[in-house]
Amino acid sequence: MIRLENVSKVYRKQNDDIRALDDVDLSVEKGEFLCVKGPSGSGKSTLLLTMGGMVRPTEGKVLVDGADVYAISGHERAVFRAQNIGFVFQMFHLIPYLTVIENVLVPALAAGRKPDRAEAEALLKRFNMTDRLRHRPSELSTGERQRVAMARALLNKPQLILADEPTGNLDPDNTGEVMGYLTEFHGNGGTVVVVTHEELTAEHANRVVHLKEGRIEAE
Ligand code: ADP
Ligand code: MG
Repeated sequence: MIRLENVSKVYRKQNDDIRALDDVDLSVEKGEFLCVKGPSGSGKSTLLLTMGGMVRPTEGKVLVDGADVYAISGHERAVFRAQNIGFVFQMFHLIPYLTVIENVLVPALAAGRKPDRAEAEALLKRFNMTDRLRHRPSELSTGERQRVAMARALLNKPQLILADEPTGNLDPDNTGEVMGYLTEFHGNGGTVVVVTHEELTAEHANRVVHLKEGRIEAE
């Protein structure tokens, strides 16, 4: 489904080059639940963003179903992302001035389709957020925020979820809940890539690879 071929990412800062990814080869098969484990600073976020078409590699290619993700225009890539990939982040990345239901509907706009409030409400019901539809993110607990972010990630019925330390700010109960939702998505045929430095999260995956200083270590 996704193939990274000799992917390197160098961030250039004045006189300092940071090689966040160093010659990474990695394939993710359809229906896989992959966990990329590594310490802080090992390049996990960069890897996920590169996979998801958000950060162009300095060298190498990212192929999705054989097509080079960085060979198309930025606009085409944005639509492709919205239609095929759900993103979940450690810091939730909800839009503070939008309500819960409006946040969940944002990906519909990005995918170029009409927002459907009934659809978003049904999704939020699954996440037990029915009585919070008109709240702003700042009025929610962290667990609730991540549930809204999960609903948002699922709105466009993606085939792939990319999750960057999705439980990094959650207590054990909410961690279990979020991992349960990801497991359910995977059980229904979805592909999941989670990056984390936590043991607990890695336990849900069916394959774990280790990232160290921008390199994938032997599997
Ligand atoms: P992780 O998610 O594993 O903590 P990151 O991918 O965020 O790792 O970062 C890998 C390395 O790249 C770190 O040394 C970090 O400081 C650096 N880095 C990440 N993003 C940027 C950026 N936008 N500009 C410059 N350096 C960055
Ligand atoms: Mg990170």
